[in-house]
Formats: sequence, structure tokens, C-alpha cells
Amino acid sequence: MQFQSKLPSIGTTVFTVMSALATKTKAINLGQGFPDFPMNESLIELVNKAMQDGYNQYPPMEGWVPLREAIAEKIEDLYQRAVHPKTEITVTPGGTYAIYTALSTLLHAGDEAIVFEPAYDSYIPGIKVNGGVPVVIPLEYPSYRIDWKKVRAAITEKTKLIMLNTPHNPSGAVLSHDDIAELRNLVRDTNIFIVSDEVYEHIILDSLPHLSMLRYPDLFERSFVCFSLGKVYNCTGWKMGYCVAPEWMMKEYRKIHQFNAFSCNTPVQVAMASFLREKSQYLSLPDFMQKKRDYFQELMSQTRFQPLETHGSYFQIYSYKEINQDPDFEFAKQLVAIHGVAAIPVSAFYQSGKDDKVLRFCFAKKKETLEAAVTKLVKV
Ligand code: GLN
Repeated sequence: MQFQSKLPSIGTTVFTVMSALATKTKAINLGQGFPDFPMNESLIELVNKAMQDGYNQYPPMEGWVPLREAIAEKIEDLYQRAVHPKTEITVTPGGTYAIYTALSTLLHAGDEAIVFEPAYDSYIPGIKVNGGVPVVIPLEYPSYRIDWKKVRAAITEKTKLIMLNTPHNPSGAVLSHDDIAELRNLVRDTNIFIVSDEVYEHIILDSLPHLSMLRYPDLFERSFVCFSLGKVYNCTGWKMGYCVAPEWMMKEYRKIHQFNAFSCNTPVQVAMASFLREKSQYLSLPDFMQKKRDYFQELMSQTRFQPLETHGSYFQIYSYKEINQDPDFEFAKQLVAIHGVAAIPVSAFYQSGKDDKVLRFCFAKKKETLEAAVTKLVKV
């Protein structure tokens, strides 16, 4: 028996591949993006308490209401947008699911989706599985900025959506006020929707503002905006996120969500509902992560790797052009096998496999982990 693959050219995600290699070789894992420092104890206690208090059955399909209310308050505080917790927010099992569901909601066979490369590796498969056609626009190297002329030139009658990501994975680039102005001009009087991946909303460095789609009424009216609670509370394995969209769009989104995950982990939602009100937890994140990025970059200055700018996310990209000219996948494999450090080859974020000889390192790690990794990297 056989059936036709829906994703014939896709293998296993690079994050899984590199993490498996790191585990096998006992390497230090600066590849897959997850913190290795402990998460907040009181949030763990709140989840335990919720379980003991009997919050163990299905929550509402759209999400635990007090959690959605807390999210709405946060959005109003941070982005000055009043969203309705009952109709405009859906809690999802993680950010990737939130994005996938948005793509699934919007795309019909043959619809074009504009996506910038390097692209987080779930976007293009998510577009294709849902019958869409990815229209890929390269970001400028090494700034990873959007060339809006190229975007304008790529728009056709079939353009259904633009996929955005700020702060950007893997480059750490963030959208500027000029980018937002270009975007607003571009979509005005069109039927183009936006799927915005904002999972690193708080991991934004150098005192830059996070320019969420939620801030702009003309952009929000056409957007699915996707967030991750795992990134905010250092518990990526809890797989908890949410999507925000105007009511009529969210109605369609829920039609799909209800037959997929249906709902998310109840005790985690109950705990998050109260924890989200402790604003200092997320307001302190930019500073906390900035210290990590600065420390990592300072340590890395002892190596032959050359840093590229990063303004957000868990990541910083380094060029290894000074070290050798091997393809980045090859070089990343050598780095794990010979030197004991895992990183992500950035060509994995390009359909074409474009290779600028750069690797992505995750700096959301304990001081000791960063130090131990760099002790190895100085020998490269
Ligand atoms: N978002 C994480 C990263 O970029 C990976 C999550 C995953 O492995 N799917 O490393």
C-alpha cells in the first residue's frame, strides 16, 4: 500500500535533528531554542494547586475565561488595543499550532502566501499542507531587513496573506516604524491578511519597542497575531500559546481549532490566569535576556566566529567565514561531533538551502552553559 506524501521534500525538523545529535554526543546544546535555567517555582506551585483543586477536565474550547481576560488586560496595557476576551482570543497548544491554525483558516487551494526567508521552519510546510503556494522573498543579508519593493512586486490577485515574524527567528531582526509604515501602505485597500508570529514579544533587546500588529487598527483588522506563553515563562515544554484576531476571523479560526486540539491543558491555564497579572515577570524579560546576549557576545569575542546583529529572540547568528568554507550543515555536524557544541545551520531556514556560512546560537542559557560552550568554541 502507499499514498502520496503531502510534503515530499520535507524531512525531520532541524531542531529535532540537532537536539538528537547533541544528546547522542553529549554536546552542549545551543541549537534548539529553549532555556536551560529553572522556570519560576511559584508558577509550578500554582499548576499543582490547580490540579489538586480539581481543575482536571476539559476547559472551554476557546480557553479558560479568566486566562483570556488576563491576556486582554495585558494587551490593552502593552499595545493599547481593547480586544474582547470572549470573542477575539483563543488559547492554543503552543505558538506553532496558533500559526498553523491561522494558515489553515485562511488558505484555499492555489492561494499565495508571502513569506520571508530565512523563515522559521514551520511556515512553508504549514502553507503547503493547506493548499497554499509560498511566494518566497529573501531578506537582505546580513541585516535581515525586508526589501518592501520586492514585496510590492510579489503581490498578485492571488495573494491571500503575508507571514510576518518580529522579533525574527533565526536572525533576531525586529520590524521598525518604517517597516510598519510600508506595510500599512501596502495592504491598504487590499484583501491581504497578515499572520504575525510574535512569540518573542518580550525578548527584545537594545530598548527597542515591540511593534505588534495589535497596535495598529488598520493592521489588526486583517491579522491573526500569535503568541507563546512558554517563551514568556521559560516553560517551552508546556506548549501553551494563544492567537488574537478580530471576532469574525476568530470565529472561523475556532471552527478549525475545535476539531483539532479542541482545547488546552486546564491546570496550566488556571495557573497562568493568575500569574499573568504579575506584570514584573514579563516586563523584566528584555533586561534579563539582554544581559545574556551581551555576556554571550563578550565571551564569543575570544573565538573566530563573527557576530551578526541581533535585536531580539533567543538567538544570535555568527558567521564562520573566517574559520572555514564548509557548507553550514557540514560545519554544524563537525561542531557537534568534534567540538561538542550544537548550533543550527541557517540554511535550514531557506527552501533553496542558501548558505551564507552562518550558524544560529541560542543564548537563553545559564551562565555556566554559555561559558562551557565558549570554552569549546575558542578551540575551533
Ligand atoms: N522555536 C524553537 C527554535 O527555533 C524550536 C521549537 C521546535 O523544536 N519545534 O529553536
